[in-house]
Amino acid sequence: MSEFDIIQRYFKRPVTDDGVTFGIGDDCALLQVPPDQGLAVSIDTLVAGVHFPPQTNPYDIGYKALAVNLSDLAAAGAEPRWATLALTLPEANEAWLEAFAQGFFTLAERYRVSLVGGDTTQGPLSITVQMHGLTPRGRMLRRAGARPGDLIYVTGTLGDAGLALRALQGQIKLTPEHAAHVMQRLNRPEPRITVGLALRDLASAAIDVSDGLAADLGHVLTASGVGASIELERLPLSPAVSAQHDWNLPLSSGDDYELCFTAPLDRQKKLMTALENNGCACTCIGMIEAVPGLRCKLANDELFTARITGYQHF
Ligand code: ADP
Ligand code: MG
Repeated sequence: MSEFDIIQRYFKRPVTDDGVTFGIGDDCALLQVPPDQGLAVSIDTLVAGVHFPPQTNPYDIGYKALAVNLSDLAAAGAEPRWATLALTLPEANEAWLEAFAQGFFTLAERYRVSLVGGDTTQGPLSITVQMHGLTPRGRMLRRAGARPGDLIYVTGTLGDAGLALRALQGQIKLTPEHAAHVMQRLNRPEPRITVGLALRDLASAAIDVSDGLAADLGHVLTASGVGASIELERLPLSPAVSAQHDWNLPLSSGDDYELCFTAPLDRQKKLMTALENNGCACTCIGMIEAVPGLRCKLANDELFTARITGYQHF
């Protein structure tokens, strides 16, 4: 199978989006951004052995490569539209490519994302996806914008993927039920696109939680020039994470792909209405304060210091 056979067989699919003038097949794709919209762009690379264990099922790799990028668009309140895919493969393995494409396109179809181009090369397994989305001009959600008094929310539950990694590394043993739940959360994160869209004009700041809540909320605090207190007892945890009795899991382990956002008190009612029927739980975990830094409060009001904050490549 040549490079061109791979593109033709696995990645060139009919595109119905009328914003795509030309997709796969030319040197460039040609995309049409509506005049009243801004183009939100985000890129993320997954490297085998760094971002996922090498033996990960190719369906999950294809799914997750798109999901982590959609998560960035969700945090920006952008509507996903167009993806490009740079794929570096050790070999042209048909079964692997078939499953990878299935995972990728299953999620792409769910959010009406068109694959409009890419690059295919040989080398150590690495997948880069660039996502392009739309926001009404100037209305992108940002990390800056949180103000003292704003409430802090997170979607879903925290720490599941981190727990799955600990189990995969043999550090702990989980019940089959807990293992199934956290593996699903590690391999098939659901990008919070509809929450992000609902937060437009309501959230004062937003970020997706990819490096652990403490690190990512920390980015919001720094960008906004504020601090915060959160109450650990309020953190939304699955039974699997709860059973570990370790706050470092929800605070400092990565790969959650939930949203963390802030909103002023006087928008709470509108916010609750906007998030109703969304199918994704949002939990208030604390409040923005003027004093810089993140304070994690235990039930007895003592402060907890998170062990590590975020994954750093260098
Ligand atoms: P060039 O050599 O001009 O860079 P390529 O031969 O790499 O072009 O790619 C041919 C066409 O296939 C281009 O439109 C490119 O965007 C697309 N393409 C290549 N690899 C992929 C991929 N993995 N997924 C989607 N489209 C791809
Ligand atoms: Mg070319």
